[in-house]
Amino acid sequence: MLIVTHLANVRYLTGFTGTAALVLVGRRDTLLISDFRYKTQAAEEVGEAVRVEIVARDPWGGALRALQKMDGIADVGFESESVTASEADRLTRDGAGGMRFKPTTQVVENLRAVKESAEVAAISAAAELASEALEAVLATVRVGQKEIDIAALLERELRVRGSEWHPFPTIVASGPRSALPHAHTTDRSVQSGEWLLLDFGAQVDGYCADITRTVLVGDRADERQRGIYELVREAQTQAIAGMRPGMTGREIDALARTVIDDGGFGDAFGHSLGHGLGLEVHEGPRLGSSNNEPVPADAVVTVEPGIYLPDWGGVRIEDDVQLTVDGAVVLSDGNTELREIL
Ligand code: ZN
Ligand code: ZN
Repeated sequence: MLIVTHLANVRYLTGFTGTAALVLVGRRDTLLISDFRYKTQAAEEVGEAVRVEIVARDPWGGALRALQKMDGIADVGFESESVTASEADRLTRDGAGGMRFKPTTQVVENLRAVKESAEVAAISAAAELASEALEAVLATVRVGQKEIDIAALLERELRVRGSEWHPFPTIVASGPRSALPHAHTTDRSVQSGEWLLLDFGAQVDGYCADITRTVLVGDRADERQRGIYELVREAQTQAIAGMRPGMTGREIDALARTVIDDGGFGDAFGHSLGHGLGLEVHEGPRLGSSNNEPVPADAVVTVEPGIYLPDWGGVRIEDDVQLTVDGAVVLSDGNTELREIL
């Protein structure tokens, strides 16, 4: 028996999209417990295979009562990454006699890492509308425009094309601010000859796309800008061409990192190559030097190398790929040629 509390896992297992629920998953039975606010929604969203119980308040109390009514339950796992310390205390304190509560990690996440075709289709749809939104906005970008205004236009284009929400705060960073890998969008105006980095997401059927493009505004790229851009692009190309299921996250990360190291900018690529993408915008598997686990076939991941130089600016190129047994299939538009917006 497993108590599932992380909401993305609840949605994955049951289809329930509300913000308060926990799920008991047993060998024969799945029980979703939510509160009064979600009575109608829970009944509509979950399939026939899931029983629903609505409690007035306190889903945890409902879960403990339900467990006590079940026969022969000895070990009950809970998700240690989402259960709070006080909830864990309560399990040990109020837990029914004979049941042992055990912390687990990544049980449902490991299932989620392998995508079914409907999940891949939703991510592709999100990526496609994200590309269309970007094209609409790039057609209007001009020297002197504020980052925040460009972000507002982009978010509007995403929404009107059907993105359910922005899975993370849209990053629009101009000039030297593009050197901040997780920049906040500000009211700075983009100047002629500067980078404009746009990192943004879209969501369809709960599934996220996550794309970054870095374009040059108002001028042709100079030699250094072009050289660094092409190095990042080559790192991404090599990683996408070389990645295979069964390689570790570290090995896939190295495909891109070696290119940037050899180009002399290893110190300027300070984050990992990518991350899993699904119901959450950052999920497993991680493509980075700390992940020594093999990446499974049909994982969907971002591939997003970057070079960041303080005071000069940064370049990041991010696409979304499905890692099939035959290699990577790019789900986003893969339109990474250097663009100069004149
Ligand atoms: Zn991103
Ligand atoms: Zn990303």
